[in-house]
Amino acid sequence: MRLPSKRTGFSLSCFLVWVASCRPFGQPPPAAQEWPAGIRQVLENTRPLTWPRGKRLPLYLWPAMSPGVLTAERAEALVGELDRRGVALISSWEPGRRKESLEEALPVARAQKKRGLPVSINANACLYSLFNGDPATAHIDAAGKPFWDTSFEGKKDMGCPFTLEERRKEIRERISFFIEAYHRQGLPVDFLFADWEIDGPLEWNGAWESSRKCRRCREQLPGLDDFAVFQKAMREMRGRLQKEIFSDPVRARYPGALVGNYAVYPHDGTRYWFDYFENRGESPATVKDRKAPYRRWAREFEFTGYTMAMPVLYPWSWTWDWYDFPVPDYRWFYNLLLEASSAGKSTPPGMPLIPFVHWHLTVPPTPPDPRIVSIRSEAYQELLWHALLRGADSFFLWCLPEENEEEIRLVHTVWAEAQQYGEFLDKGIPVVFDVPGQPGTVLSALQLDRRVLVRRTDFLSSRAPAELNLGGKKISIASDPGRCRIYSLDSAGDRTR
Ligand SMILES: [Zn+2]
Repeated sequence: MRLPSKRTGFSLSCFLVWVASCRPFGQPPPAAQEWPAGIRQVLENTRPLTWPRGKRLPLYLWPAMSPGVLTAERAEALVGELDRRGVALISSWEPGRRKESLEEALPVARAQKKRGLPVSINANACLYSLFNGDPATAHIDAAGKPFWDTSFEGKKDMGCPFTLEERRKEIRERISFFIEAYHRQGLPVDFLFADWEIDGPLEWNGAWESSRKCRRCREQLPGLDDFAVFQKAMREMRGRLQKEIFSDPVRARYPGALVGNYAVYPHDGTRYWFDYFENRGESPATVKDRKAPYRRWAREFEFTGYTMAMPVLYPWSWTWDWYDFPVPDYRWFYNLLLEASSAGKSTPPGMPLIPFVHWHLTVPPTPPDPRIVSIRSEAYQELLWHALLRGADSFFLWCLPEENEEEIRLVHTVWAEAQQYGEFLDKGIPVVFDVPGQPGTVLSALQLDRRVLVRRTDFLSSRAPAELNLGGKKISIASDPGRCRIYSLDSAGDRTR
C-alpha cells in the first residue's frame, strides 16, 4: 500500500514570500505550488494548532513524507511550518540509493533536532525482501525439489520460513548503515516505522498447505498439522525476525526510539479485519460474528522489541456484507471500534498506540458495488474521537494521492481539536471498551483522577441520558453531538465541555 514519492524543487525566495503572505484556509498561495504535491496538500488542508500539542506525539500523514533534497534553510522552514500544524515530516531510507537517501534525510533530521522535534523515518524499503527469490529460501518437497508458495498476489516467491538465517544479516545491515550514519552525525533517531507485510513467515493463503508439503518445515515444526500450532510458530518467528532485523539494530544505538510496523500491535486474541492480500475464506482460526469471519490471532508484537503499537482502522469494502445493521454507518463503525478497542485495552500503559487510519472505502470492488454505502465523514471522525478516548496517542494517515485533501482535513481536524484535552490525552486512562452489538449509543472515556472526559455518539434518534458506570459511581451522560464533555466523579453534573 505504498505510494511513489515525488520530488520537485522549489526556491527559497518563493518560500519566504509564501510564509509571509496571508493565507486563508483552503486557499493556497501561488508559491505553495512549488512544494511536492503531497506536502503542498498537507499545508493547504491543515491549520496551525489552536491548542499546543505539548510533548505529545505529532500527527503522521503519509503525504508529509520524502520532500526531496532541501537546503538547511528550506528544511528548517518546512519542518517549522509543519510543526505549527502538529504534523511530522518523515524521511525515507532507501537501501538501493543510500547516498541520495542521506542527502535528502540528513538536512531534515538536523532541522528537527534544532527545533527539538522527533526525527521520523520510513524504514520500509530496508526490510524488503527477506524472500528475494533466492532458491535457497524455497520450500523443499518430499522428493527434494524446491518449490514456492505462489498464493500471495504480487509475490510469487514466498518460501520456507526456516531458511532465512542469511537473509537476516543483509536486512539488518541496511538498517545499521543508516543508523550509524545518523549516529556519526550526532543526530537522534526517534520514530521509525515500516509497512512490512507480504514477506517472511505468514500463516494465511496457501502458507500452511505449503509448509505441510515441505520436508524442512515438517522436520522443524512438530505439530504442524494443527493450524493453531502453525500459526503460533509463524507469528513468533515473524516477531523475532522483526526484532533481529529492525528493532534491535535501532535500539542498540537509540534505546528510546519508537519503532513499529503496520498491523503489529497487542490485541485481544482476535483479528477483526482482513488485509487486502489475505484470502477471506473460512479457516481453522475463524470466529464468526454474524457473517464476519474474524480470526483467532496469535501473539507477534510481544516478540518484536517494538516500542509502539500500530493497529489498522480502515473501512475495507468487504466489511459491508458482514453485518446487517439498518444504520449503514454502524456496519463500519462497529467493526472499527472492535479493532480500536482490542488494541486499546491490550496495549500496556505508556506504550504509544498509533493506529493507521483511512476514511475512503478501502480496496473498493471493481466494478463498483452500488449496494455499498461508505461510512460518512462525520461517523469516521467520531470513530477517531472514540479511538483517542480508548487509548490512541496519535494517528498515521495512509491514503491514495487522489484522496489526500479530504483525508488530511478529516484526521487533522479531529486530532488538532483533541489537543485542548491534552492533560487527558497525556495522563488519562481509558475506562470504556464496550462495543454495542446493535446501533445505539456509544460511549468512550478517559479518566484522570476524579474527572472523566467522555465522547458520546448516537446512531439512533434517542437522545435520552446514557449511564456510565465507573467503579460503582454512575454518571448520567447527556447527548451533546459532536462534542466531548468532562464530568466530575465527585458531583452529579458535568463541569465543562
Ligand atoms: Zn518449508
